[in-house]
Amino acid sequence: MPAQRHIAHFDLDAFFVEVELLNEPGLRGQPLIVGGSRERGVVTTCSYEARAFGVRSAMSMREALNRCPQALVLPGSRGQYSRYSRWVTDIIAASAPVFEKASIDEFYLDLTGMDRFHDPLAFTIDLRRRITAETGLPISFGLATNKMVAKMATNEAKPNGYLQVPPGMEQAFLAPLPVDRIPGVGDHTLGRLQELGIRTIAELAAFPAEVLSSRLGQYGKDLHRKAHGIHESEVAGYHETKSISTEHTFEQNVSDEEFLMSELVRMTEKTAAQLRRENMMTGCVAVKLRYPDFETTSRQRAIAYTCFDDELIPVAKELFRQLYRPGSKVRLLGVRLSELTSGAMQTNLFSDPERKSGLYKAIDAVRDRFGKSALTRGGAMRGSSDK
Ligand SMILES: [Mg+2]
Repeated sequence: MPAQRHIAHFDLDAFFVEVELLNEPGLRGQPLIVGGSRERGVVTTCSYEARAFGVRSAMSMREALNRCPQALVLPGSRGQYSRYSRWVTDIIAASAPVFEKASIDEFYLDLTGMDRFHDPLAFTIDLRRRITAETGLPISFGLATNKMVAKMATNEAKPNGYLQVPPGMEQAFLAPLPVDRIPGVGDHTLGRLQELGIRTIAELAAFPAEVLSSRLGQYGKDLHRKAHGIHESEVAGYHETKSISTEHTFEQNVSDEEFLMSELVRMTEKTAAQLRRENMMTGCVAVKLRYPDFETTSRQRAIAYTCFDDELIPVAKELFRQLYRPGSKVRLLGVRLSELTSGAMQTNLFSDPERKSGLYKAIDAVRDRFGKSALTRGGAMRGSSDK
């Protein structure tokens, strides 16, 4: 028998709206929407007052304003959200031994083993209190024996609350909930399950697993296990694993600054494309240089979370300029993106989000089809392949 796990899931409530309210406390109590343009934009987050009118994240702004015409629409301030997200991350990092930043406003903590010294519930209650006291932001948490149940407990505890599902109580907690409360069950799966007469998680758990897997394949099997409260996925450590990078050792040492700069641009584009393929954003750019005598220098900068080349390239170029001694030969050049976090939500936060992410999707599709050199800029074709 593996050791009993204690997993907490923390999620900031209506995060972007709450950050806006810290700046404009007078708006509290009103239906508020953070999102793109009234004509073509999408709702990124909305206040609970707007939710009462049926407004939801990812809904088109047009539909949202049909449901709630009096809502106040705020354009969003990405730099500020990134700053507050980091602040909360730092508070969690200072007290939790293992945590995963699942998105800009969501964290998993593995508290297994801590129960020999502290009560996990007392620890999480205190952490929640400190986050709100220091940052002014409301946050909810769920505490359970695995990530899925913890996340579902958070969702039941919201807004501004917490819920513990004690070991052994997973099925009792899940049973009465509708099946689409299981993370990842969308309209399509919901429809398939309804065809089978399944509405609650209890009904899903009692359904023959063979029939589910014959209808829904492996996904049906996974769902059946989830309905029984079984979920083995681990909390992935934040700082250790999450960075992606491209490094290039030149066949011959290079001192042509213009060429180095174009290589830097090409490598940043390549790394950013990988970031978007994995549906991630980065909050930190680093550039590394190695000289022929193997002296290695690097510099990094924290930025507002992004996945777009036109925001990453200027930072990479500036870091390069700060590092590079003009005229020196360079042996190796590298770009690294770290502080990675899941990015679906954030891509809505541009003045014309559809256009911008559509443009990058098109670029990435061509890149995938014709290989990575298809869309690099002129002058970047020299040198051998990257590692
Ligand atoms: Mg949230």
